[in-house]
Amino acid sequence: MKKVIATPSVTKEILERHSLFAKKSYGQNFLVDSGVVEKIARHAVISDHCVVFEIGPGIGALTQWLCAYAKQVVSFEIDERMRSVLADTLQDADNFTLVMEDFLQVDLAAWVDRYRSQGYDVVIAANLPYYITTPILFKIFESKAEIAAITVMMQKEVADRFHARPGSKDYNALSVITQFRCSVHPVMKVPRNVFLPKPNVDSAVLQFRFIEHAPLADEERFFAMVKACFAMRRKTILNNFTGCCEDKAQAMELLTRAGIDPSTRSEQLPLDAFLHLYEVYEHESG
Ligand code: SAM
Repeated sequence: MKKVIATPSVTKEILERHSLFAKKSYGQNFLVDSGVVEKIARHAVISDHCVVFEIGPGIGALTQWLCAYAKQVVSFEIDERMRSVLADTLQDADNFTLVMEDFLQVDLAAWVDRYRSQGYDVVIAANLPYYITTPILFKIFESKAEIAAITVMMQKEVADRFHARPGSKDYNALSVITQFRCSVHPVMKVPRNVFLPKPNVDSAVLQFRFIEHAPLADEERFFAMVKACFAMRRKTILNNFTGCCEDKAQAMELLTRAGIDPSTRSEQLPLDAFLHLYEVYEHESG
């Protein structure tokens, strides 16, 4: 690596050289701490035969380290201005492919299949554009593509929800649905002062890995049930779950059958309790 991009002075110099300014509408906050980008790359590349799909390379701060650790890096970028910048900053990388496309429009399963069929492990890495953190992650989760690990930085409050445990203030339907699909591991916290421009929030890096499950009869119905159970936070599960049932008596009956105290609140219940309730619910009304 000739010159590390993720420092304040080099980033400023690149922005000036290309007459570039950070676009708020694309969630552009560039990382200017080489220790942080190096650590994300080290965690993201989980094997010797990895291709990394990166979302939003920007000027290449993280990409440069991904290229150092992985066999191949394919980066998806929406901002056309980055094409010439990356041709400059990553000119020495011979394992880098840039795809100028909105990641939300990408046929992810097809991209993953292309590299899986060549025997690569496919992983995802990003300093995410925060305005679309959840849509990006749900696109990845719902693709059901063979992705070995997803290592991404996001706003800290959002990260707290993704890996919240029952009983914590951050635990909600998003936590349950995500933890049904994936194991979630905190990698590190990242303070706001390692970005240019500096955002108003701190960040955190999480790693997600898919969990194998026996398939549910109707996954969407399970997710809808979980969302209904958290619809009103201050209410008991009985009151919230009644929204899924014919009446309160039926809700009471199903909760009791699932071994759940009707006076409890959803934020106290682990994933297994929701799965058990779903089984009873599906059996009764499916
Ligand atoms: N990876 C760089 C870094 O860490 O310094 C830039 C990260 S910046 C937070 C987010 C990047 O995502 C920007 O380059 C932005 O243009 C890009 N981006 C925003 N929306 C996107 C989308 N829908 N598809 C692909 N890239 C997107």
